[in-house]
Amino acid sequence: MLKPQIKYPYYEAVGDEELVLQCAYRNCLPLMLKGPTGCGKSRFVEAMAARLGRPLISVACNEDTSATDLLGRYLIQGGDTVWQDGPVTRALREGAILYLDEISEAREDVIVVLHPLTDHRRTITLDKRNEEIKASPEFMLIVSFNPGYQKGLKELKPSTRQRFVAIHFDYPKAELETEIVSKEAQCSLEIAKKLVKFGHKIRNLKELGLTETASTRLLVDAGKLMRDGLEARLACDVAIIQPLTDDGDVMIALRDVAAMIF
Ligand code: ADP
Repeated sequence: MLKPQIKYPYYEAVGDEELVLQCAYRNCLPLMLKGPTGCGKSRFVEAMAARLGRPLISVACNEDTSATDLLGRYLIQGGDTVWQDGPVTRALREGAILYLDEISEAREDVIVVLHPLTDHRRTITLDKRNEEIKASPEFMLIVSFNPGYQKGLKELKPSTRQRFVAIHFDYPKAELETEIVSKEAQCSLEIAKKLVKFGHKIRNLKELGLTETASTRLLVDAGKLMRDGLEARLACDVAIIQPLTDDGDVMIALRDVAAMIF
């Protein structure tokens, strides 16, 4: 009988990241992915979880994310008090890949809770239940953070960083990014090439003082709009320029760049 073909999420390796993740996984080491927004970190984790055959539990952390949100809480249900596992607890029990996106955004108590999970103990303590849970061998913790974002405000402490094997991510080289944009947006290579050129120009215009720059994600979005028939400059405006800036002068400068390419 023919085996059904498993369709993994599309991910184009940029360097040795697949090798490193597999090795960290075999050795029960937690992994940190450093890099700017929209450069493929989440997609990498999705693809690797699928390849390892493990469920993936993802949490997008923000400044309100607390230890209780991640570990679990007692809820009142129909007059009864019932315990509900949070995503971290669930991931430990299920032997899942746990992806905490933008970990440095989370509150300090989250980091404290994660410490025993990142060393040989691989445990968490549910104080409210007086219970200690040990991670199953299949469990893996992966966190991401964006080192350039809000510099100084949301840096991870060196003592926390040292607990992880870390991979540096960046936007793929032009040729590879063109291929990714074309495949993801299902647009022609010619359009993808121009979008990548536009992306590179924006990334090099440091004087614009953008907090975030043109990510692969934005280029893919613009490519999708163009493939669907939206005029190229308009697609660049709504999918790339507007999400990046509210500053009128910067908008004009970026539109000028787009007009040189499209
Ligand atoms: P991040 O998690 O770094 O913010 P994502 O993983 O969400 O970024 O990537 C944004 C989008 O860029 C993805 O949805 C995908 O379309 C595309 N992408 C970026 N890098 C790659 C890659 N190496 N292979 C395939 N798609 C990629």
